[in-house]
This record gives sequence, structure tokens and C-alpha cells, in this order.
Amino acid sequence: MDFKKLNTLKGFMPQHEGEALSRWAEKFSSIGPALEIGTFGGKSSLYMAAGTSKNEQVVFTIDHHSGSEEHQVGEGYFDPDIYDESLGRVNTVPLMQSNLNQFEESRYVVPMIVNANLLAPIWTMSLGLLFIDGSHTEISAQNDYVNWNKRVLTGGALVIHDIYENPDEGGQAPFLIYQKALEEGFNLYERVDTIVCLIKT
Ligand code: MG
Repeated sequence: MDFKKLNTLKGFMPQHEGEALSRWAEKFSSIGPALEIGTFGGKSSLYMAAGTSKNEQVVFTIDHHSGSEEHQVGEGYFDPDIYDESLGRVNTVPLMQSNLNQFEESRYVVPMIVNANLLAPIWTMSLGLLFIDGSHTEISAQNDYVNWNKRVLTGGALVIHDIYENPDEGGQAPFLIYQKALEEGFNLYERVDTIVCLIKT
């Protein structure tokens, strides 16, 4: 995988964190598939596929593709490139398709256009790695953690992005579920800047 090229894609995963995600995806996909909540344009899905492809393992990635709170019209991360006039809403499917199309490893990416809360009750597959990077509202982050962490196999990994201890630097929702996971049987394996990898014990 050409990480330099991957890093030029639109998205919210800096290269040093993406490369860590890729390493973890390689390590933990040896025990089961990876699943990501919050595809956006598929950039981090591709970082993960760079790792899982070495084990012939897939990355499931879930997103409703209508953008998070901060991507909506008038909000801080609104981007006209991902706004679909005909639908009258944000639609990140075309961005994802165009990004995935540029990399061979995308054949290991399984996009699912659905609300993660709706899929969770009927999902039964166990996971080698779960990556939570969806909406950063407190309720969404909590739901993603509570609904999905039980699918992680013992010895598998829970990865969380956008960890900020200091509220002045970023929202606290990912940090709060990180703390909760530490209390509930996950141990810190590695941290790179704002992305953490925990192992289920
Ligand atoms: Mg993020």
C-alpha cells in the first residue's frame, strides 16, 4: 500500500495514526475480521485493509453516509464537495467509492450503508479488531461501545480515535468510552497521538 498516496485522500486520519491502525489491523486480523464504525470517505478503511489483506481478512465498515453532526450545512466541518444537491443532504458514498477505487486493497473492504445501532442487535460475527470512529456525540460513542465491544474476541483489539484528555483540545466522548473500556476488561496495548489500541483480556 502506498501510504503517501493514501494520505492525500480527503479524510480525518493523519498518516502516523493511520500507519499505526494498519499495523494493528494486520496483527489482530490474524484472529478475526476487522469492523469499523464511521467510514466517511474510506481512508481509514484502506489503512486497515493494508493490514488485514496480509492475512486475507476483510474490513467491514459501517456508515449511514449522511455525515456526522459537524459535517452538516452551517457546521464547522461542512464541505460542499460531499453535499448532494439532488438529495438535499450530505452523501459520502461517492467520495468513498472514488477513494476505494484507487487502491487494490479495497477488495478487502466491505462497506455497509446502515445505522450501526440498527445493525448491532442482529450482528453475530466475532471480531479480531473493532475500530470506533463514528459520531463523537456522547450518546453515539457510548452506543457504539456498548453495542459492539462484546463482539471483540478475547485477545482481540478495540481501537478508538480522537482521544483528548483535555476538553480544550477536543470532544470528550471518545475519551470517556476509552476510560470505560479500561474499567471493563480492556488493557492499553499502544497509543499513537490521539488513537489508542486496547486488548480484550
Ligand atoms: Mg476520527
